[in-house]
Amino acid sequence: MDEKSLEKEKSLLVGKSYKCPVCDEKFTSLGVRSGKVRSEGQDRDLRPRSSSIDSIKYSVILCPHCGYAALSQYFSTVTVHQRKAIEEGITPNYDGLKGQGEVVPEYYSDEEALRRFRVALANCLVKKCKDSEKGNLYLRMGWLFRGRRERLDKDNAGYEKAAAKLKAEEDKALKQALDFFIKARMNEDYPIGGMDEPTLEYLIAALALGAGEKETASKMIGQILVSRTVNDRIKDKARDLKEEVAKLEAKE
Ligand SMILES: [Zn+2]
Repeated sequence: MDEKSLEKEKSLLVGKSYKCPVCDEKFTSLGVRSGKVRSEGQDRDLRPRSSSIDSIKYSVILCPHCGYAALSQYFSTVTVHQRKAIEEGITPNYDGLKGQGEVVPEYYSDEEALRRFRVALANCLVKKCKDSEKGNLYLRMGWLFRGRRERLDKDNAGYEKAAAKLKAEEDKALKQALDFFIKARMNEDYPIGGMDEPTLEYLIAALALGAGEKETASKMIGQILVSRTVNDRIKDKARDLKEEVAKLEAKE
């Protein structure tokens, strides 16, 4: 990242204070200043776009004392049982602060953002989180790889190779997200992972299309288009997807 974009990114960040629901310690995590980031729409799979900052990098909250980490929407909800599981399954293996003072970085590098996602995934497994939470983590991890790919310098030698590698990582994560969201749709009650029914069905359709699973995509699109309660915005997006599925089929 060049100096100017880095300064811009730093100016959009703020240290937010948290009290850890697992170890009760206080700490500061970086977050994006609300209302400061200009939205430039969404990707097909609902990833928010902004040229000023990749806010996905800041979506995991991680306690530096005990290693508990989760996406912000899940962070404060921990059951007694989950707390115990994290204390036993995460904290002993976590290389935390060990009594040293906390240093809050000015921003998170791509590597640091990815590390935070990996810790959150480990927590998700240990606390036996819902499939929708796993789906949300893998979805955002996929978006993180996409963001990194978009930030690569196209003029650099080795660009093609680096871009292909990141695209493969993105596809792998998004396929995981797709599978977890399909399971969640069958087994969980709405809102699922913070989404209502049409939004989740749309997202599954978009991810399925990306993974080349046209049948799943078509099924979800059909559900959305026949519904009488779905708003026009989602229906329009579903129609766009339908066209893309048709284009894919025409190619075959
Ligand atoms: Zn903690």
